[in-house]
Amino acid sequence: MESLGVLLLYPVNAYLEQELDRRCRLYRFWESPREEFLRAHAGAVRAVVGNANYGADAALIDALPALEIVASFSVGIDRVDLAKCRERGIRVTNTPDVLTDDVADLAVGLAIAVLRRIPQADRYVRAGLWKSRGDYTLTTRFSGKRVGIIGLGRIGQAVARRVEAFDCPVNYHQRTEQKSVYPNYTYYPTVVELASNSDVLVVACPLNASTRHIVSREVMETLGPKGVLINVGRGPHVDEPEMVAALADGRLGGAGLDVFEDEPNVPEALLGMDNVVLVPHVGSGTYETRKAMADLVLGNLEAHVLSKPLLTPVV
Ligand code: NDP
Repeated sequence: MESLGVLLLYPVNAYLEQELDRRCRLYRFWESPREEFLRAHAGAVRAVVGNANYGADAALIDALPALEIVASFSVGIDRVDLAKCRERGIRVTNTPDVLTDDVADLAVGLAIAVLRRIPQADRYVRAGLWKSRGDYTLTTRFSGKRVGIIGLGRIGQAVARRVEAFDCPVNYHQRTEQKSVYPNYTYYPTVVELASNSDVLVVACPLNASTRHIVSREVMETLGPKGVLINVGRGPHVDEPEMVAALADGRLGGAGLDVFEDEPNVPEALLGMDNVVLVPHVGSGTYETRKAMADLVLGNLEAHVLSKPLLTPVV
């Protein structure tokens, strides 16, 4: 792949960066001012590698006349202008499957952490309050709670399998009902109906125009004062200002959030709340999975290069 000019948009992973450096002609987008970089190298970039937060938008794609492939170090490709790629015949690849288990683990971990108040209890011990104030307050059980999943895809199914082991009834909403595949899971045709039949609502669908703010004020109020929202999808799936207000007023019981509308900015109000558990978009952030994702990106670039004709025809 020595001739492949690859533009890495963000230092997503040290191993990936090292391998791209070794195998391709690597450009690091963050190392020079955007316009300066484009003036000097735009024509040499045949591949762009981004991630969940750094994608190829229309302006960048337009600026790269030789672009052939956008290989994202993520499953979600909501930051890639897919219409523009289609128009230009640019391939788009992502890294599905290898991260499914980690994201599902985190979703379940967040639900338990919110209900059992694990971070708060940890802080209680560290602050010496166990000794000075005595036993910690009672918390709420997770086992047996009704879990509603928005998007019963790879991650949603992995969440469902896990929570079944906690004796949780599984409900779901997506565009297509899968009655014959999942006879034990209950389908709801709207998110509001799903929320009204769930104690814990997990967001695990892709972000697009139809799923932006799929968790609306109405959904959160339906989930209610004892309900818990878990978001491992994308921040804009949830109407964040409405969520903050609902959590503050007690109209929504709690939230476990891996993703936010404007990462890495987290609404100030959430930082002081005791009914939320906040993590910095780490769903796939294990050594094992990030290595597997890097190998998939490299494999996607290699497959792309190999599928191109080896010799440019001489006109
Ligand atoms: P899949 O494509 O396997 O599953 C997506 C599911 O969402 C499908 O079941 C689909 O069903 C459903 N869906 C699609 N459109 C809608 C809609 N309009 N309304 C409701 N449901 C819908 O994706 P994955 O499970 O692999 O990943 C899901 C998302 O999780 C990713 O797109 C990404 O944004 C996010 N993610 C987050 C990570 C993190 O670090 N927090 C890491 C990895 C992924 P149907 O087509 O029937 O509607």
